[in-house]
Amino acid sequence: MAKYGGWAGKVLHVDLSTGRTWTDDTVEKYKEYLGGTGIGYKVIWDEVPAGTKPYDPVNRIIFAVGPLAGTGAPCNGRTAITTLWPTCWPQPLVATGHMGGQFAAKLKYAGYDAVVIEGRADRPVWLSIVDQQVEIQDARRLWGQGIRRTTEAIAQIMGTDGVVAAIGQAGENLVPMSVVMNSVSHSAGGIGSVMGSKNLKAIGVRGTGSVRIAGNKDEWEKLIKYHLSLLGANNQHVVPSSPQPWAEFYEPRSRWVGSKGRTWGAALRPIETGTCEPHNLNRIAYRTNNAAFFNGDIAWQYTVRGNGCTSCPIRCHTMIKVPSVSAKYGIPEVGQNTCAGLNFGRACLGPGSQNRANLAIGRAIRLILMNIGGAYAGIADMDTIGAAHKISMVVAENEQESPWSPYHVDKGFKREESTVTVLSVVGQTEIADLASNTPEGFLYTITHTITGIGNGSGMFYSPYDLNLTPTEYGHEPVLLLPPSAAQTFGKKGWTKDTIREYLYQHARVPKGVWAGHSWFKNHPNMLAPKWREAPSDTGIPIVFHPKAFQVIVVGGPANKMSYCAPGGRNAAVTRSADKWR
Ligand code: SF4
Repeated sequence: MAKYGGWAGKVLHVDLSTGRTWTDDTVEKYKEYLGGTGIGYKVIWDEVPAGTKPYDPVNRIIFAVGPLAGTGAPCNGRTAITTLWPTCWPQPLVATGHMGGQFAAKLKYAGYDAVVIEGRADRPVWLSIVDQQVEIQDARRLWGQGIRRTTEAIAQIMGTDGVVAAIGQAGENLVPMSVVMNSVSHSAGGIGSVMGSKNLKAIGVRGTGSVRIAGNKDEWEKLIKYHLSLLGANNQHVVPSSPQPWAEFYEPRSRWVGSKGRTWGAALRPIETGTCEPHNLNRIAYRTNNAAFFNGDIAWQYTVRGNGCTSCPIRCHTMIKVPSVSAKYGIPEVGQNTCAGLNFGRACLGPGSQNRANLAIGRAIRLILMNIGGAYAGIADMDTIGAAHKISMVVAENEQESPWSPYHVDKGFKREESTVTVLSVVGQTEIADLASNTPEGFLYTITHTITGIGNGSGMFYSPYDLNLTPTEYGHEPVLLLPPSAAQTFGKKGWTKDTIREYLYQHARVPKGVWAGHSWFKNHPNMLAPKWREAPSDTGIPIVFHPKAFQVIVVGGPANKMSYCAPGGRNAAVTRSADKWR
Protein backbone atom coordinates (compact mmCIF):
# COMPACT_ATOMS: atom_id res chain seq x y z
CA MET A 1 0.00 0.00 0.00
CA ALA A 2 2.80 2.40 0.91
CA LYS A 3 3.83 3.02 -2.70
CA TYR A 4 0.37 4.22 -3.64
CA GLY A 5 -0.83 7.75 -2.99
CA GLY A 6 -4.44 8.84 -3.05
CA TRP A 7 -6.06 5.73 -1.69
CA ALA A 8 -6.98 5.69 1.99
CA GLY A 9 -6.26 1.97 1.84
CA LYS A 10 -9.37 0.30 3.22
CA VAL A 11 -12.86 -0.57 2.16
CA LEU A 12 -15.30 -0.80 5.06
CA HIS A 13 -17.97 -3.52 4.93
CA VAL A 14 -21.10 -3.42 7.07
CA ASP A 15 -23.61 -6.27 7.27
CA LEU A 16 -26.75 -4.80 8.79
CA SER A 17 -28.36 -8.24 9.20
CA THR A 18 -25.66 -9.53 11.54
CA GLY A 19 -24.17 -6.27 12.80
CA ARG A 20 -20.70 -7.42 11.65
CA THR A 21 -18.21 -4.89 10.26
CA TRP A 22 -14.84 -5.60 8.61
CA THR A 23 -12.41 -4.08 6.14
CA ASP A 24 -10.43 -5.24 3.16
CA ASP A 25 -7.53 -3.72 1.29
CA THR A 26 -8.47 -1.23 -1.42
CA VAL A 27 -5.35 -1.68 -3.53
CA GLU A 28 -5.36 -5.45 -3.37
CA LYS A 29 -8.94 -5.75 -4.52
CA TYR A 30 -9.80 -2.58 -6.40
CA LYS A 31 -6.71 -0.91 -7.82
CA GLU A 32 -7.78 -1.82 -11.35
CA TYR A 33 -11.12 -0.10 -10.78
CA LEU A 34 -10.15 3.51 -10.50
CA GLY A 35 -12.67 5.89 -8.92
CA GLY A 36 -15.69 5.46 -6.70
CA THR A 37 -17.92 4.23 -9.50
CA GLY A 38 -15.37 1.59 -10.46
CA ILE A 39 -15.25 0.21 -6.91
CA GLY A 40 -19.04 0.21 -6.76
CA TYR A 41 -19.47 -1.78 -9.96
CA LYS A 42 -16.76 -4.23 -8.97
CA VAL A 43 -18.50 -4.91 -5.63
CA ILE A 44 -21.86 -5.47 -7.30
CA TRP A 45 -20.25 -7.77 -9.88
CA ASP A 46 -18.48 -9.83 -7.21
CA GLU A 47 -21.05 -9.91 -4.45
CA VAL A 48 -24.61 -9.53 -5.78
CA PRO A 49 -26.07 -12.65 -7.39
CA ALA A 50 -27.89 -12.40 -10.72
CA GLY A 51 -31.64 -12.01 -10.25
CA THR A 52 -31.30 -9.89 -7.08
CA LYS A 53 -33.93 -7.16 -6.69
CA PRO A 54 -33.04 -3.67 -5.42
CA TYR A 55 -34.77 -4.16 -2.06
CA ASP A 56 -33.41 -7.64 -1.39
CA PRO A 57 -31.08 -7.64 1.63
CA VAL A 58 -28.32 -9.14 -0.53
CA ASN A 59 -28.23 -6.01 -2.68
CA ARG A 60 -25.30 -3.74 -1.79
CA ILE A 61 -25.08 0.03 -1.47
CA ILE A 62 -21.55 1.25 -2.04
CA PHE A 63 -20.56 4.77 -1.00
CA ALA A 64 -17.18 5.15 -2.71
CA VAL A 65 -14.72 7.88 -3.63
CA GLY A 66 -11.72 8.14 -5.93
CA PRO A 67 -8.02 8.56 -5.15
CA LEU A 68 -8.14 12.33 -5.71
CA ALA A 69 -10.91 12.96 -3.16
CA GLY A 70 -9.60 14.77 -0.11
CA THR A 71 -6.27 15.66 -1.76
CA GLY A 72 -7.17 19.23 -2.66
CA ALA A 73 -7.39 18.41 -6.37
CA PRO A 74 -10.19 20.59 -7.79
CA CYS A 75 -13.59 19.09 -8.56
CA ASN A 76 -13.02 15.88 -6.63
CA GLY A 77 -15.52 16.26 -3.83
CA ARG A 78 -18.15 13.86 -5.12
CA THR A 79 -19.23 10.58 -3.55
CA ALA A 80 -20.37 7.88 -5.96
CA ILE A 81 -23.18 5.69 -4.62
CA THR A 82 -23.74 2.47 -6.52
CA THR A 83 -26.53 -0.06 -6.10
CA LEU A 84 -29.13 -2.05 -7.99
CA TRP A 85 -31.32 0.84 -9.02
CA PRO A 86 -35.01 0.80 -8.02
CA THR A 87 -36.28 2.97 -10.87
CA CYS A 88 -34.97 0.84 -13.72
CA TRP A 89 -37.72 -1.09 -15.44
CA PRO A 90 -38.49 -3.85 -16.33
CA GLN A 91 -35.19 -5.24 -15.00
CA PRO A 92 -33.21 -3.68 -12.16
CA LEU A 93 -29.87 -2.35 -13.37
CA VAL A 94 -26.70 -1.28 -11.62
CA ALA A 95 -26.38 2.50 -11.54
CA THR A 96 -24.55 5.21 -9.65
CA GLY A 97 -25.80 8.42 -8.07
CA HIS A 98 -23.49 11.21 -6.97
CA MET A 99 -23.56 13.67 -4.12
CA GLY A 100 -21.29 16.62 -3.41
CA GLY A 101 -20.61 18.23 -0.06
CA GLN A 102 -17.93 17.14 2.40
CA PHE A 103 -18.80 13.45 2.65
CA ALA A 104 -16.12 12.20 0.23
CA ALA A 105 -13.25 13.96 1.95
CA LYS A 106 -14.44 12.99 5.44
CA LEU A 107 -14.64 9.35 4.42
CA LYS A 108 -11.06 9.45 3.19
CA TYR A 109 -9.89 11.21 6.36
CA ALA A 110 -11.59 8.46 8.37
CA GLY A 111 -9.44 5.98 6.47
CA TYR A 112 -11.83 4.50 3.90
CA ASP A 113 -12.15 4.59 0.14
CA ALA A 114 -15.59 3.01 0.27
CA VAL A 115 -18.33 1.74 2.57
CA VAL A 116 -20.15 -1.36 1.34
CA ILE A 117 -23.49 -1.94 3.03
CA GLU A 118 -25.38 -5.22 2.84
CA GLY A 119 -28.21 -6.98 4.68
CA ARG A 120 -31.18 -5.49 6.47
CA ALA A 121 -31.28 -4.33 10.07
CA ASP A 122 -34.10 -5.68 12.22
CA ARG A 123 -34.92 -2.12 13.33
CA PRO A 124 -34.10 1.39 12.08
CA VAL A 125 -30.40 2.15 12.51
CA TRP A 126 -27.79 4.69 11.55
CA LEU A 127 -24.13 4.07 10.94
CA SER A 128 -21.50 6.00 12.86
CA ILE A 129 -17.96 6.08 11.40
CA VAL A 130 -15.35 7.92 13.46
CA ASP A 131 -11.94 6.90 12.12
CA GLN A 132 -11.52 3.22 13.00
CA GLN A 133 -14.53 3.20 15.32
CA VAL A 134 -17.56 1.95 13.43
CA GLU A 135 -20.88 1.52 15.22
CA ILE A 136 -24.41 0.65 14.21
CA GLN A 137 -26.66 2.92 16.26
CA ASP A 138 -30.35 2.73 17.06
CA ALA A 139 -32.40 5.10 14.88
CA ARG A 140 -35.92 4.23 16.02
CA ARG A 141 -36.54 7.72 17.35
CA LEU A 142 -35.39 9.18 14.03
CA TRP A 143 -37.60 6.99 11.83
CA GLY A 144 -40.41 9.11 10.46
CA GLN A 145 -38.36 12.30 10.66
CA GLY A 146 -37.36 14.36 7.65
CA ILE A 147 -33.78 14.76 6.46
CA ARG A 148 -33.27 18.10 8.20
CA ARG A 149 -34.33 16.90 11.65
CA THR A 150 -32.43 13.63 11.28
CA THR A 151 -29.28 15.47 10.25
CA GLU A 152 -29.59 17.92 13.14
CA ALA A 153 -29.99 15.09 15.64
CA ILE A 154 -26.99 13.08 14.40
CA ALA A 155 -24.85 16.18 13.88
CA GLN A 156 -25.21 16.83 17.63
CA ILE A 157 -23.42 13.51 18.16
CA MET A 158 -20.88 13.72 15.33
CA GLY A 159 -19.82 17.28 16.14
CA THR A 160 -18.98 20.10 13.78
CA ASP A 161 -16.23 18.10 12.05
CA GLY A 162 -18.65 15.36 11.08
CA VAL A 163 -20.93 15.04 8.10
CA VAL A 164 -24.30 13.29 7.97
CA ALA A 165 -25.99 11.70 4.97
CA ALA A 166 -29.63 10.85 5.68
CA ILE A 167 -32.86 9.75 4.08
CA GLY A 168 -36.31 11.16 4.74
CA GLN A 169 -39.78 9.68 4.84
CA ALA A 170 -39.77 8.98 1.10
CA GLY A 171 -36.78 6.66 1.46
CA GLU A 172 -38.29 4.94 4.48
CA ASN A 173 -41.47 4.30 2.50
CA LEU A 174 -39.57 2.94 -0.50
CA VAL A 175 -40.38 5.72 -2.94
CA PRO A 176 -38.09 4.65 -5.80
CA MET A 177 -36.86 8.12 -6.77
CA SER A 178 -36.13 9.22 -3.19
CA VAL A 179 -32.77 10.72 -2.28
CA VAL A 180 -30.03 10.42 0.28
CA MET A 181 -28.74 13.86 1.19
CA ASN A 182 -25.70 15.00 3.11
CA SER A 183 -25.48 18.23 5.08
CA VAL A 184 -29.15 18.86 4.22
CA SER A 185 -28.07 20.13 0.87
CA HIS A 186 -26.22 17.63 -1.36
CA SER A 187 -28.36 14.83 -2.67
CA ALA A 188 -28.10 11.72 -4.78
CA GLY A 189 -31.37 10.47 -6.22
CA GLY A 190 -32.61 6.89 -6.39
CA ILE A 191 -30.65 5.66 -3.38
CA GLY A 192 -32.98 6.68 -0.56
CA SER A 193 -35.38 3.79 -0.91
CA VAL A 194 -32.59 1.19 -1.05
CA MET A 195 -31.29 2.59 2.25
CA GLY A 196 -34.88 2.54 3.52
CA SER A 197 -35.23 -1.12 2.52
CA LYS A 198 -32.21 -1.87 4.73
CA ASN A 199 -33.65 0.14 7.64
CA LEU A 200 -30.63 2.43 7.34
CA LYS A 201 -31.66 5.98 8.20
CA ALA A 202 -28.30 7.73 7.95
CA ILE A 203 -24.52 7.56 7.92
CA GLY A 204 -22.42 9.93 10.00
CA VAL A 205 -18.69 10.23 9.23
CA ARG A 206 -15.89 12.01 11.04
CA GLY A 207 -12.24 11.53 10.13
CA THR A 208 -9.07 12.97 11.59
CA GLY A 209 -6.54 11.52 9.13
CA SER A 210 -5.22 12.78 5.82
CA VAL A 211 -4.51 11.51 2.32
CA ARG A 212 -0.96 10.66 1.26
CA ILE A 213 0.25 12.22 -1.98
CA ALA A 214 2.75 10.01 -3.82
CA GLY A 215 4.38 12.74 -5.91
CA ASN A 216 6.27 15.93 -5.15
CA LYS A 217 4.22 18.30 -2.99
CA ASP A 218 5.33 21.49 -4.75
CA GLU A 219 4.61 20.04 -8.17
CA TRP A 220 1.25 18.91 -6.90
CA GLU A 221 0.34 22.38 -5.69
CA LYS A 222 1.54 23.93 -8.95
CA LEU A 223 -0.69 21.54 -10.85
CA ILE A 224 -3.68 22.36 -8.65
CA LYS A 225 -3.18 26.10 -9.18
CA TYR A 226 -2.90 25.61 -12.91
CA HIS A 227 -6.06 23.54 -12.94
CA LEU A 228 -7.90 26.15 -10.86
CA SER A 229 -6.84 28.92 -13.19
CA LEU A 230 -8.48 27.07 -16.07
CA LEU A 231 -11.76 26.55 -14.30
CA GLY A 232 -14.64 28.97 -14.53
CA ALA A 233 -17.16 29.90 -11.95
CA ASN A 234 -19.94 27.80 -13.29
CA ASN A 235 -20.57 24.52 -14.90
CA GLN A 236 -22.40 25.91 -17.88
CA HIS A 237 -20.27 28.51 -19.60
CA VAL A 238 -16.86 29.72 -18.53
CA VAL A 239 -17.75 33.31 -19.24
CA PRO A 240 -19.21 36.01 -16.99
CA SER A 241 -22.88 36.90 -17.08
CA SER A 242 -22.30 40.62 -17.52
CA PRO A 243 -19.80 42.71 -19.54
CA GLN A 244 -16.35 42.86 -17.90
CA PRO A 245 -13.39 44.98 -18.98
CA TRP A 246 -11.16 41.97 -19.65
CA ALA A 247 -13.75 39.76 -21.36
CA GLU A 248 -14.53 39.66 -25.04
CA PHE A 249 -17.80 37.82 -24.46
CA TYR A 250 -20.40 37.56 -21.77
CA GLU A 251 -23.28 35.17 -21.40
CA PRO A 252 -26.35 36.31 -19.43
CA ARG A 253 -27.30 32.73 -18.56
CA SER A 254 -23.99 32.08 -16.81
CA ARG A 255 -23.83 31.75 -13.03
CA TRP A 256 -20.73 33.94 -13.07
CA VAL A 257 -22.76 36.89 -11.88
CA GLY A 258 -20.07 38.59 -9.78
CA SER A 259 -19.06 41.94 -11.28
CA LYS A 260 -18.24 45.49 -10.40
CA GLY A 261 -20.93 47.07 -8.23
CA ARG A 262 -22.31 43.77 -7.02
CA THR A 263 -21.70 43.22 -3.32
CA TRP A 264 -22.16 40.50 -0.75
CA GLY A 265 -24.37 42.82 1.23
CA ALA A 266 -24.79 40.71 4.39
CA ALA A 267 -21.10 39.87 4.84
CA LEU A 268 -19.56 41.08 8.11
CA ARG A 269 -18.08 43.89 6.04
CA PRO A 270 -19.89 44.20 2.66
CA ILE A 271 -17.57 42.88 -0.07
CA GLU A 272 -17.71 43.95 -3.68
CA THR A 273 -17.25 40.97 -5.97
CA GLY A 274 -15.49 43.11 -8.56
CA THR A 275 -14.54 42.19 -12.08
CA CYS A 276 -13.03 38.79 -11.22
CA GLU A 277 -10.32 38.22 -13.83
CA PRO A 278 -10.19 34.53 -14.74
CA HIS A 279 -6.67 33.84 -13.47
CA ASN A 280 -7.04 35.59 -10.13
CA LEU A 281 -7.37 32.58 -7.83
CA ASN A 282 -7.83 34.72 -4.73
CA ARG A 283 -11.14 35.99 -6.07
CA ILE A 284 -12.38 32.81 -7.67
CA ALA A 285 -15.11 32.35 -5.05
CA TYR A 286 -16.49 35.83 -5.81
CA ARG A 287 -17.70 34.76 -9.22
CA THR A 288 -20.77 32.61 -8.62
CA ASN A 289 -23.83 33.69 -6.72
CA ASN A 290 -26.55 31.15 -7.26
CA ALA A 291 -29.00 33.05 -5.06
CA ALA A 292 -28.75 36.04 -7.40
CA PHE A 293 -28.69 33.79 -10.46
CA PHE A 294 -31.95 32.14 -9.46
CA ASN A 295 -33.75 34.94 -7.65
CA GLY A 296 -32.47 38.15 -9.19
CA ASP A 297 -30.60 41.17 -7.90
CA ILE A 298 -32.55 41.31 -4.63
CA ALA A 299 -30.43 38.36 -3.40
CA TRP A 300 -27.21 40.40 -3.30
CA GLN A 301 -28.27 42.38 -0.24
CA TYR A 302 -28.80 39.14 1.74
CA THR A 303 -25.64 37.35 0.58
CA VAL A 304 -23.09 36.51 3.28
CA ARG A 305 -20.72 34.64 0.96
CA GLY A 306 -20.42 31.88 -1.58
CA ASN A 307 -19.87 28.30 -0.53
CA GLY A 308 -19.55 24.85 -2.01
CA CYS A 309 -18.25 21.31 -1.87
CA THR A 310 -14.75 20.25 -0.84
CA SER A 311 -12.14 21.43 -3.37
CA CYS A 312 -14.67 22.74 -5.84
CA PRO A 313 -13.84 26.22 -7.14
CA ILE A 314 -17.29 26.65 -8.63
CA ARG A 315 -18.76 27.44 -5.18
CA CYS A 316 -22.34 27.12 -6.38
CA HIS A 317 -23.85 27.45 -2.90
CA THR A 318 -24.78 30.82 -1.51
CA MET A 319 -25.00 31.59 2.18
CA ILE A 320 -27.73 34.14 2.84
CA LYS A 321 -28.82 35.98 5.95
CA VAL A 322 -32.41 37.17 6.27
CA PRO A 323 -33.08 38.39 9.83
CA SER A 324 -36.70 39.30 9.08
CA VAL A 325 -37.44 35.72 8.05
CA SER A 326 -35.91 34.51 11.27
CA ALA A 327 -38.01 36.90 13.30
CA LYS A 328 -41.17 36.01 11.45
CA TYR A 329 -40.81 32.25 11.12
CA GLY A 330 -38.56 31.32 14.03
CA ILE A 331 -35.94 29.65 11.81
CA PRO A 332 -32.18 30.39 11.70
CA GLU A 333 -31.43 33.69 10.00
CA VAL A 334 -28.55 32.22 8.01
CA GLY A 335 -28.99 29.39 5.55
CA GLN A 336 -27.35 28.13 2.41
CA ASN A 337 -28.10 26.01 -0.57
CA THR A 338 -27.39 25.63 -4.24
CA CYS A 339 -30.05 24.94 -6.85
CA ALA A 340 -32.84 24.19 -4.41
CA GLY A 341 -35.72 26.51 -4.02
CA LEU A 342 -38.78 26.97 -6.11
CA ASN A 343 -38.76 29.74 -8.63
CA PHE A 344 -41.34 32.38 -7.80
CA GLY A 345 -39.78 35.22 -9.79
CA ARG A 346 -39.01 35.88 -13.41
CA ALA A 347 -40.19 33.18 -15.82
CA CYS A 348 -41.28 31.07 -12.84
CA LEU A 349 -43.53 28.85 -14.92
CA GLY A 350 -40.64 28.02 -17.20
CA PRO A 351 -38.52 27.33 -18.99
CA GLY A 352 -34.82 27.09 -18.28
CA SER A 353 -32.33 26.20 -15.62
CA GLN A 354 -33.83 28.66 -13.17
CA ASN A 355 -36.86 26.37 -12.99
CA ARG A 356 -35.00 23.23 -12.05
CA ALA A 357 -36.89 22.59 -8.80
CA ASN A 358 -40.23 23.60 -10.33
CA LEU A 359 -39.72 21.30 -13.28
CA ALA A 360 -38.36 18.45 -11.19
CA ILE A 361 -41.39 18.49 -8.87
CA GLY A 362 -43.77 18.78 -11.80
CA ARG A 363 -42.04 15.91 -13.51
CA ALA A 364 -42.28 13.79 -10.35
CA ILE A 365 -46.02 14.47 -10.16
CA ARG A 366 -46.33 13.55 -13.81
CA LEU A 367 -44.57 10.24 -13.19
CA ILE A 368 -46.93 9.54 -10.31
CA LEU A 369 -49.95 10.32 -12.49
CA MET A 370 -48.63 7.94 -15.12
CA ASN A 371 -47.32 5.13 -12.96
CA ILE A 372 -50.06 5.15 -10.33
CA GLY A 373 -52.95 6.78 -12.18
CA GLY A 374 -52.28 5.33 -15.62
CA ALA A 375 -52.40 8.80 -17.19
CA TYR A 376 -51.02 7.65 -20.52
CA ALA A 377 -52.40 9.17 -23.70
CA GLY A 378 -55.23 7.06 -25.02
CA ILE A 379 -55.48 5.02 -21.80
CA ALA A 380 -56.58 7.25 -18.92
CA ASP A 381 -55.75 10.53 -20.65
CA MET A 382 -58.16 11.01 -23.54
CA ASP A 383 -57.01 14.53 -24.40
CA THR A 384 -57.14 15.58 -28.04
CA ILE A 385 -54.09 17.75 -28.48
CA GLY A 386 -52.65 17.74 -24.97
CA ALA A 387 -50.78 20.61 -23.36
CA ALA A 388 -47.24 21.40 -22.30
CA HIS A 389 -48.35 22.10 -18.74
CA LYS A 390 -49.27 18.45 -18.33
CA ILE A 391 -45.55 17.71 -18.24
CA SER A 392 -44.87 20.14 -15.42
CA MET A 393 -46.66 23.14 -13.95
CA VAL A 394 -45.32 24.13 -10.55
CA VAL A 395 -44.81 27.59 -9.14
CA ALA A 396 -44.12 29.24 -5.80
CA GLU A 397 -45.83 32.42 -4.67
CA ASN A 398 -43.81 35.63 -4.74
CA GLU A 399 -44.72 36.43 -1.14
CA GLN A 400 -41.93 38.98 -0.74
CA GLU A 401 -43.31 41.30 -3.39
CA SER A 402 -46.99 40.76 -2.80
CA PRO A 403 -48.95 43.60 -1.21
CA TRP A 404 -51.31 41.06 0.32
CA SER A 405 -51.23 38.18 2.76
CA PRO A 406 -49.90 34.94 1.21
CA TYR A 407 -52.29 32.51 -0.43
CA HIS A 408 -51.89 29.88 2.30
CA VAL A 409 -52.72 32.43 5.01
CA ASP A 410 -55.96 33.23 3.16
CA LYS A 411 -56.65 29.50 3.31
CA GLY A 412 -56.36 29.51 7.09
CA PHE A 413 -52.76 28.37 7.59
CA LYS A 414 -50.19 30.08 9.77
CA ARG A 415 -47.87 32.45 7.97
CA GLU A 416 -44.79 30.47 9.02
CA GLU A 417 -46.20 27.18 7.73
CA SER A 418 -45.00 25.70 4.45
CA THR A 419 -47.92 24.50 2.39
CA VAL A 420 -48.63 22.90 -0.95
CA THR A 421 -51.72 23.67 -3.00
CA VAL A 422 -52.93 21.42 -5.76
CA LEU A 423 -55.50 22.61 -8.24
CA SER A 424 -56.66 21.57 -11.63
CA VAL A 425 -56.47 23.88 -14.64
CA VAL A 426 -56.84 23.28 -18.34
CA GLY A 427 -54.41 25.78 -19.69
CA GLN A 428 -52.63 29.04 -19.39
CA THR A 429 -53.66 32.18 -21.25
CA GLU A 430 -51.23 35.05 -21.22
CA ILE A 431 -52.79 38.43 -20.46
CA ALA A 432 -50.35 41.06 -21.64
CA ASP A 433 -51.02 44.60 -20.50
CA LEU A 434 -47.83 46.59 -20.65
CA ALA A 435 -49.66 49.92 -20.82
CA SER A 436 -52.04 50.03 -17.84
CA ASN A 437 -51.07 51.66 -14.58
CA THR A 438 -54.41 51.53 -12.78
CA PRO A 439 -56.43 48.65 -11.32
CA GLU A 440 -59.31 49.46 -13.66
CA GLY A 441 -56.98 49.34 -16.68
CA PHE A 442 -55.70 45.87 -15.75
CA LEU A 443 -59.19 44.61 -14.98
CA TYR A 444 -60.50 45.78 -18.34
CA THR A 445 -57.85 43.67 -20.08
CA ILE A 446 -58.36 40.73 -17.76
CA THR A 447 -62.15 40.57 -18.10
CA HIS A 448 -62.03 40.79 -21.88
CA THR A 449 -59.46 37.99 -22.03
CA ILE A 450 -61.11 35.49 -19.73
CA THR A 451 -64.66 35.64 -21.05
CA GLY A 452 -64.16 33.50 -24.15
CA ILE A 453 -66.78 30.75 -24.22
CA GLY A 454 -64.40 28.06 -25.43
CA ASN A 455 -61.62 28.49 -22.91
CA GLY A 456 -63.05 26.27 -20.22
CA SER A 457 -64.14 29.12 -17.97
CA GLY A 458 -67.84 28.73 -18.58
CA MET A 459 -70.32 26.99 -16.34
CA PHE A 460 -70.84 23.90 -18.35
CA TYR A 461 -72.49 22.10 -15.47
CA SER A 462 -74.91 23.40 -12.92
CA PRO A 463 -73.92 22.47 -9.36
CA TYR A 464 -77.58 22.61 -8.35
CA ASP A 465 -78.51 19.85 -10.74
CA LEU A 466 -75.69 17.81 -9.26
CA ASN A 467 -76.87 18.49 -5.69
CA LEU A 468 -73.65 20.30 -4.85
CA THR A 469 -72.98 23.65 -3.29
CA PRO A 470 -70.86 25.95 -5.47
CA THR A 471 -67.95 25.41 -3.08
CA GLU A 472 -68.22 21.65 -3.34
CA TYR A 473 -68.48 22.03 -7.06
CA GLY A 474 -65.09 23.69 -7.32
CA HIS A 475 -64.51 25.06 -10.80
CA GLU A 476 -61.84 27.51 -9.68
CA PRO A 477 -59.92 29.55 -12.25
CA VAL A 478 -56.53 31.01 -11.31
CA LEU A 479 -55.39 34.55 -11.93
CA LEU A 480 -51.61 34.89 -11.68
CA LEU A 481 -50.63 38.51 -11.08
CA PRO A 482 -47.03 39.77 -11.34
CA PRO A 483 -45.77 41.87 -8.40
CA SER A 484 -45.93 45.22 -10.22
CA ALA A 485 -49.59 44.76 -11.20
CA ALA A 486 -50.44 43.46 -7.72
CA GLN A 487 -48.74 46.48 -6.15
CA THR A 488 -50.73 48.79 -8.39
CA PHE A 489 -53.87 47.21 -6.96
CA GLY A 490 -52.51 47.26 -3.42
CA LYS A 491 -51.54 50.94 -3.50
CA LYS A 492 -55.06 51.87 -4.52
CA GLY A 493 -56.56 49.86 -1.68
CA TRP A 494 -57.72 46.89 -3.72
CA THR A 495 -57.69 43.54 -1.97
CA LYS A 496 -57.91 40.07 -3.44
CA ASP A 497 -61.57 40.02 -2.40
CA THR A 498 -62.42 43.25 -4.21
CA ILE A 499 -60.66 41.93 -7.34
CA ARG A 500 -62.68 38.73 -7.08
CA GLU A 501 -65.92 40.64 -6.65
CA TYR A 502 -65.07 42.86 -9.61
CA LEU A 503 -64.38 39.84 -11.80
CA TYR A 504 -67.56 38.15 -10.65
CA GLN A 505 -69.55 41.22 -11.61
CA HIS A 506 -67.76 42.10 -14.85
CA ALA A 507 -66.32 38.90 -16.31
CA ARG A 508 -69.70 37.88 -17.67
CA VAL A 509 -70.94 36.48 -20.93
CA PRO A 510 -74.38 37.49 -22.27
CA LYS A 511 -76.86 34.67 -21.94
CA GLY A 512 -77.56 34.94 -25.66
CA VAL A 513 -73.92 34.15 -26.38
CA TRP A 514 -74.00 31.13 -24.08
CA ALA A 515 -77.24 30.06 -25.72
CA GLY A 516 -75.45 29.93 -29.08
CA HIS A 517 -72.96 27.42 -27.71
CA SER A 518 -73.92 23.94 -28.90
CA TRP A 519 -73.53 22.50 -25.43
CA PHE A 520 -76.28 24.69 -24.01
CA LYS A 521 -78.40 24.28 -27.11
CA ASN A 522 -78.33 20.56 -26.48
CA HIS A 523 -78.45 20.74 -22.67
CA PRO A 524 -80.34 23.94 -21.73
CA ASN A 525 -80.97 22.63 -18.22
CA MET A 526 -77.29 22.56 -17.53
CA LEU A 527 -77.37 26.32 -17.06
CA ALA A 528 -77.77 27.13 -13.37
CA PRO A 529 -81.50 27.55 -12.59
CA LYS A 530 -81.22 31.21 -11.62
CA TRP A 531 -80.10 32.08 -15.15
CA ARG A 532 -82.41 29.83 -17.14
CA GLU A 533 -85.30 32.27 -17.49
CA ALA A 534 -83.16 35.41 -17.69
CA PRO A 535 -83.38 37.69 -20.76
CA SER A 536 -80.77 36.95 -23.41
CA ASP A 537 -78.75 40.12 -22.75
CA THR A 538 -78.25 39.17 -19.08
CA GLY A 539 -74.56 38.86 -18.24
CA ILE A 540 -73.82 35.47 -16.70
CA PRO A 541 -70.66 35.22 -14.59
CA ILE A 542 -68.08 32.65 -15.58
CA VAL A 543 -67.90 31.27 -12.04
CA PHE A 544 -70.56 30.49 -9.45
CA HIS A 545 -69.27 32.78 -6.72
CA PRO A 546 -66.56 35.45 -6.40
CA LYS A 547 -64.35 33.35 -4.13
CA ALA A 548 -63.91 30.83 -6.93
CA PHE A 549 -61.23 33.11 -8.43
CA GLN A 550 -57.82 32.11 -7.01
CA VAL A 551 -55.62 35.23 -7.05
CA ILE A 552 -51.90 34.51 -6.63
CA VAL A 553 -48.87 36.81 -6.96
CA VAL A 554 -46.02 35.26 -8.96
CA GLY A 555 -43.36 36.27 -11.45
CA GLY A 556 -40.90 39.06 -12.09
CA PRO A 557 -40.92 42.56 -13.57
CA ALA A 558 -43.44 43.87 -16.16
CA ASN A 559 -47.15 43.34 -16.38
CA LYS A 560 -47.69 40.06 -18.08
CA MET A 561 -50.43 38.26 -16.25
CA SER A 562 -51.70 34.76 -16.70
CA TYR A 563 -55.13 33.17 -16.53
CA CYS A 564 -55.63 29.46 -16.00
CA ALA A 565 -59.15 28.29 -16.74
CA PRO A 566 -60.49 25.67 -14.33
CA GLY A 567 -59.87 22.06 -15.11
CA GLY A 568 -63.34 20.82 -14.27
CA ARG A 569 -65.04 20.29 -10.98
CA ASN A 570 -62.03 20.45 -8.68
CA ALA A 571 -61.56 22.87 -5.85
CA ALA A 572 -58.03 23.84 -4.82
CA VAL A 573 -56.67 21.71 -1.97
CA THR A 574 -54.02 23.14 0.38
CA ARG A 575 -52.09 21.06 2.93
CA SER A 576 -49.29 21.81 5.36
CA ALA A 577 -45.90 20.40 4.36
CA ASP A 578 -44.21 21.16 7.68
CA LYS A 579 -44.31 17.67 9.10
CA TRP A 580 -42.30 16.41 6.11
CA ARG A 581 -39.31 18.69 6.69
S1 SF4 B 1 -19.91 23.41 -5.19
FE1 SF4 B 1 -21.59 23.16 -6.64
S2 SF4 B 1 -20.61 22.79 -8.62
FE2 SF4 B 1 -19.07 22.39 -7.03
S3 SF4 B 1 -19.25 20.17 -6.67
FE3 SF4 B 1 -20.54 21.23 -5.17
S4 SF4 B 1 -22.59 21.18 -6.11
FE4 SF4 B 1 -21.10 20.79 -7.75
